[in-house]
Amino acid sequence: MKIYMVSACLLGLSTRYDGKSKKNAKVVELCKENICIPFCPEQLGGLSTPRPPCYFVGGEGRDVLAGRAKIVEKESGQDRTMNFLKGAEESLLIAKLTRPDAIILKDGSPSCGVNRIDLKGKKTEGCGVTCALLKKEGYRVKSYG
Ligand code: SF4
Repeated sequence: MKIYMVSACLLGLSTRYDGKSKKNAKVVELCKENICIPFCPEQLGGLSTPRPPCYFVGGEGRDVLAGRAKIVEKESGQDRTMNFLKGAEESLLIAKLTRPDAIILKDGSPSCGVNRIDLKGKKTEGCGVTCALLKKEGYRVKSYG
């Protein structure tokens, strides 16, 4: 039996910006045989659910960690970078406490994206802020969705 941290929305929790989930049958199945720890970096970072959608400006997750890019609300332009950084740090703390074999993340999200993100309204290669931090700290990350 393995331990996985999993983006909460993939397990059917309604944590997404639109108040919905993104349940993935394969991930749910995986959790029947293993220990899965659901987490949502954006909720951990203090954002509400539902919440306004956000996108990257100036780079992707690694650039946000390096202070070269930010994350803003699409409609209002309000800077939410601090919430995303806090969510990443809290997620890292969960990883340190639970020592997962791997972390399963929902692709495309500004927090959880592994291969793609939304850069100023355009789908682009890159990873989210939480994914970037977890990878930097040496955790094994897999993408779903
Ligand atoms: S931050 Fe991650 S876990 Fe939370 S809703 Fe977005 S993709 Fe799902």
